[in-house]
Amino acid sequence: MTPAWVCLGYAYSIATPQVWNTHFVLDTRQGLLLVDVPADPHVHFPRFGLDPARAEHIVLTHLHPDHVSGLPLLLQNLALRGRTRPLTVHGPAHALRGMQAWLRALGWEPWPWAFPVQWAARAVTATPTEVLAWAGVRVWAAAMRHHVPTWGLRLEGPAGRALAYSADTAPNPALDALADGAVWLFHEATGPYPGHSTAQQAGATAARTGVGQLLLVHVEPGREAELVRAAQATFSGPVRVPRVGERWPL
Ligand SMILES: [Zn+2]
Repeated sequence: MTPAWVCLGYAYSIATPQVWNTHFVLDTRQGLLLVDVPADPHVHFPRFGLDPARAEHIVLTHLHPDHVSGLPLLLQNLALRGRTRPLTVHGPAHALRGMQAWLRALGWEPWPWAFPVQWAARAVTATPTEVLAWAGVRVWAAAMRHHVPTWGLRLEGPAGRALAYSADTAPNPALDALADGAVWLFHEATGPYPGHSTAQQAGATAARTGVGQLLLVHVEPGREAELVRAAQATFSGPVRVPRVGERWPL
């Protein structure tokens, strides 16, 4: 099975019953890598033929509720389903410390049935750093410009196709380095707010970095067509908002 990535949501902080907060998974023969966990995977994943029990790695891009708030419930439900093998959580040290504090507050650690969670905190800079090589996929992270320490990502599959993800950020050179020549740029288009990007800025990043297509995410559901038009002002390649459940071979 070729590793594939699946878009599981593209909404900004306020999701809808049809469009969940922005996140995706990488589906491989060796299991799942989740990039952000904004909601309860046991409710959401089965719609797309995915079983959260196959999770092996999780990347938290940053410690904001619309990106991480489903993780404690995921861990609890995996434990209740009898998981004993470890799960590894990657991300900025700030995000992992915060999540560990939250889990302590929720009483995770003393649970007799809790399985091991490995916390793979890494300090990354504006230069992309390889943070994981697994299931034929290499993952690089670089520091973005957001309100809290945030990782932008590049995932490269065995066939050399790359997916770049801005997470939440203002435009910056580290994101350009991650996106360079990628097939897909999964880019936030929240709007003209500090620590975020507009659709026009996402288009400009796509144009500078020569990506194959621009997928606008972290957007307000209902504004998709307007934001695509805005990005087309700065990027002449294909631009759209991904469908929830859409799947691409990496
Ligand atoms: Zn954020």
